[in-house]
Formats: sequence, structure tokens, C-alpha cells
Amino acid sequence: MSEIRRISNLSAQSKKSSGPYTEGKKLIYQGPLKVSDLAKLLKLSEAQIIKNLFMKKQMVTINNILNTDTIAELCLDFNYDFELIEESGDVLDVNLSAVIDPPKDLKPRPPVVTIMGHVDHGKTTLIDTIRSSNVAGGEAGFITQAIGAYQKEIHGKKITFIDTPGHEAFTAMRSRGTKVTDIVILVVAADDGVMPQTIEAIDHARAANVPIIVAVNKIDKLGADVNKVKNELLAHNVIAEEFGGDIIFQGVSAKKGTGIEELLDAILVTSEMLELKANPHRYAYGTVLEAKLERGEGPKASLLIENGTLLSKDFIVAGASFGKIRRMSNENNKVLKQAGPATPVSIIGLDEVPEAGDNFIAFETEKEAKELAFKRKQAKIDVMRGSSEGLKLSDLHQKVSDGELIVLNVIIKADNSGSAEAVRSSLEKINVQGIKLNVIRASAGQITESDVLLASASNAIIFGFNIRPSTQVRDLAERNKVEIHLHRIIYALLEQTEAALKGLLKPEFEEKVTGQAEVRAIWHASKVGTIAGSMVLSGVLKRDQSARLLRDGVIIYEGKIATMKQVKNDVKESRAGFECGMTLLNYNDIKEGDIIEGFEMVEVKNG
Ligand code: GDP
Repeated sequence: MSEIRRISNLSAQSKKSSGPYTEGKKLIYQGPLKVSDLAKLLKLSEAQIIKNLFMKKQMVTINNILNTDTIAELCLDFNYDFELIEESGDVLDVNLSAVIDPPKDLKPRPPVVTIMGHVDHGKTTLIDTIRSSNVAGGEAGFITQAIGAYQKEIHGKKITFIDTPGHEAFTAMRSRGTKVTDIVILVVAADDGVMPQTIEAIDHARAANVPIIVAVNKIDKLGADVNKVKNELLAHNVIAEEFGGDIIFQGVSAKKGTGIEELLDAILVTSEMLELKANPHRYAYGTVLEAKLERGEGPKASLLIENGTLLSKDFIVAGASFGKIRRMSNENNKVLKQAGPATPVSIIGLDEVPEAGDNFIAFETEKEAKELAFKRKQAKIDVMRGSSEGLKLSDLHQKVSDGELIVLNVIIKADNSGSAEAVRSSLEKINVQGIKLNVIRASAGQITESDVLLASASNAIIFGFNIRPSTQVRDLAERNKVEIHLHRIIYALLEQTEAALKGLLKPEFEEKVTGQAEVRAIWHASKVGTIAGSMVLSGVLKRDQSARLLRDGVIIYEGKIATMKQVKNDVKESRAGFECGMTLLNYNDIKEGDIIEGFEMVEVKNG
């Protein structure tokens, strides 16, 4: 198969979408900006901005992020006009809503169908029945995988079914600005009739301007009456053809498989009327249906291609994650080389797990994809900083200066209960005016998800002593804006806390975890010592970098990665999803199940 001709998605990038910038004496921006960046844009000195805000009793430094209202005020103060571009989906980067395809390239594409209806009316059964129905052969013999959607072929035409039923998922996608569905199948149980969620589903479909096909289910039941459902729905303006409307009603038994083929035909008829088209001759873009971290494979995402063709070697950005696709497969676990519009695929190769509802975009070059992912990662951090409600040690002093009495809730986790208690009593002895330390939990063991949730609910900070949280716990903490401070030496913990409380905290370097690997097998070699056959679970590990060994979350060694091999070759680094053999410098007591964590010290641009 010769390679398909494709145009880039970057042509959709408009100037407006790439703000902030100035046009004469007008600032065009689309979100929060750093003081230093705003100063550059308005051709002012940073001191002018800091002074202006100081006069309004707002203390900032050059690295603080200003919200959009403050930026507008500053523009007025400094005689600038301003325009805030509304954030609509992707203004930060590629403006997908501006994609225009040449009509000659547009080809018919399969419809994407979502099944909705009242609870227990048979949505799940219908999805399963359609999936396993043998209407036109299908691809038998494969072990299926759940990827959030699947395709069915009938009379040589494909239909894509989203396999999360109900309007919650449908609405969640819509609230993120994504319209995935072309046709809604409204399931109404013949024996139960129109119920509250039936009406809700109608409202959602109407709001999204998506046509409805009614599947009157459970017609195998005694007394099931399709006409009764037609009459009931009349009152909700869902009018059957014989009553002069245009809604197709199809009686089915999801349980027995009756009427399924007719229902699929009805979908095809509706789909033809919609004249659904897409352009296979462009780099793909679409929506992340679901994503998770898969053991041994790394981040794994299900994508629904909206437009374009995705190739199995493409560079893509999904949400803020970046990657070169390493494997692309369909719901039957079949490896695909390429996939066109309305196809659901599962891919591995991303550097982090995106969120369901994120968009994804494929790029011609690694550079373009990396740049966009970087921008999005940065934007995410800025938003998090800007809207952070979590408590930060470094913010405490400001609050104290504002005269608030602060109760600082603290959770202490340590490698054993003796040190947990030692940390507790030392922390409680810290005496800084205006601050009351309140230890709400002090116990032995690693930091768990329940610790993070407790911290999040009670606005607490977590101190870890001689332990390390897992990647999942770190992610959860990040999402919930819970600060975790990790220490190995008790006086360092106390010193840092006291300094923070007194407003003296000036960390210049901060530890950043680069990745974690799980030890899966052990070899002993007389020359090099213990070799840890490991699977990198997240991020990247590098030869010669600082690393520690964790057993059940407790640090048992800290030093360096001495050697690293993949298969038989020496390598410099290993990324998530890859296996490698490592040795630790001067350390041999490694066991299966241990975690090797790589870290580095990075400079913190302090605000
Ligand atoms: P959902 O909540 O809408 O996803 O409904 P389910 O698919 O879980 O179905 C609810 C119940 O109705 C289950 O006990 C099904 O076995 C049953 N059911 C679903 N479809 C049919 C059908 O066509 N006929 C009969 N008799 N029962 C059905």
C-alpha cells in the first residue's frame, strides 16, 4: 500500500489563536500572564507593573501569574487597549474548529452512534448484542479489547458504536467542547415506557442537535407494545413516521437479538441523510475516549479519529501528552497500519496518560508535536498555579502577614511509627506566631491515596519521612493540588518547615522524579553484582543519574544507576513501557518487586 497523501493540521493555526501579542497600543491575550511576560508585551519595566500593583495593595514578583482581570486593569493604567480572546477549546494551539477541507477530498465516513435511555431499559445489553451479532461476518477469531468504542460492518458499510451508554458520558464529552456522536439510539423498554431518563436523553440529543432513532426494546416480553411507546413519545415531540414525523422506531429484543439488523439498517439510512464526510488526506485529529496506565505498556489511550488518517508511526499530541505511536490496534486487538475517520483505535507510545475528552492531533514532525505538548503542559501548570486552592508552604508567610491566623493541617507518614511520632512532636514544637500546626494523621507506611484524599478534604500538607509515594499517588496529589514534602533527615524537615512558616523559604533547587521502574527479575553476575531486570513504569531512567531503591514505599538505598542495558546493548536511558537491566552503584541487595526511582535536582524559578 503506497503511503497516503496528507495535509498538516497546522494550517488551521490562526494568528489569533497564538496570542499573546500586541498590535500597536493593543494587547491581545487569552489567559493569565507572568508579570515579566506582560512587562515585555507592554514595553514596560517589570518594576512599573510591580509598583502599580503595590499601590493597589497587591504584592507580586516578576514570576507571579496575573489573572485576566488584573491584566485588563494594567492595560488601562498604561494606556493600552486590550482584547481577551475567549478560550474555546484549543485557542492555545491548533484551532481545530478552523479546519477547512477542500470539497474534493471529502469522502463519506461511518456514523458514530451513542446509545442512551432510562436505566434498566437494556442499553448495555443492546451494546453487547450488537457487538457480538454476526450480521456480516465481522472479524472473528480475535480476542476483543475494550477501547471505548467498536465498529460493526453491515452491507459493506461501517458503523461506529461508543460503548459507554447513557447521557453522562455523552454530556461530559460535550461539556468539553467535543461533539463525538452523530446519531443517538434512544432505548425505551416496551414494558416500562417513557421514563425520566428517557426524557433527559431526548433533551441531550436535541441540545446537541443529533438525530434520534428509537429502539423499542424487550419486545420479547409478554404484553410489550411498541405503539404505546410511540404514543407516549408523541407528547415529547419525538414523532414516528406514521404520525407524520421523521423518527424511525424499531422494535428490538436486545436479549434475543431480534430486530438488530433492522436497527443497523435504520442507522445507515439516517447516516446517509446526514451526508457525513471527512477528509482522509490530512493528519488525523479527534478525541481521547479513554486512557490509562497499562502495566508493561505504559500510557495507553483509545482515540476516536474525527478527521484525517492516523498512521501507526505518527507523532501525536493527546491532551498535554506527546508520543510517537508504538502500536496501534483496534477493538479486536488487531494491529493497524492506518486508520481513517470515525475509527476507534487503541494506541501506546504516549509519555503520560491523557484524559478522556482531551483532543488528539497528529503531526508531520516530532518537533511540531513536541512543541505543542510542551505548550499544553506549561499551560496546565500555569492554570494549576493560577487557580490553586491547595495549601503551599511557600504561601503561608504571606497569609500570616495579612493577619490571618492559620491552622496548618499536617499529615505525617514515615517508615516506622517511631519516626512518625518523632516528626510529630518536633513539628508541634515549632513556634511561629500566627500559625498553629495541627497534625491530623501521623502513621507508619507509605503515602496512600487515602492520605491524599484526606489532605485534599482538609487542606493539609503531607510530610513524608524516609518514604516515597508511588506514581499514582503523586498524580493524585497533583490533581488534587496537595503538597507533599519528602525528607530523609529530620532536622532538614524541621528547618524547611520553620523557614517556610517564617517566610524565609527560598528553595533554589527542587528534586524532580524523572521516572520509576519495577524490578521484575534478578540476576547475579560475579563481575557487576546484582542486575535488576526492570520495567520502566513511568517517565525515563538514565544511566549515571541519581536514583533510589524503594521496597514497599520505603527508601532502602540512595545513590546512582551504574549500568543500563536493553537486551544486550548498553543504553543511556530507558523510557516508560521498556524493559532494561540495571545495576546500582555499590549496592546489590535488590529484590523482585522493588522500585527504582530516578531523580534529579532542578532549579526552581521561585515566585
Ligand atoms: P441498562 O441499565 O439500560 O444498561 O440495562 P441492561 O442492559 O443492564 O438491562 C437491564 C435488564 O433488562 C437486564 O436484566 C437485562 O437482561 C434485561 N433486558 C435487556 N434487554 C432485554 C430484552 O430485550 N428482553 C428482555 N426480556 N430483557 C432484557
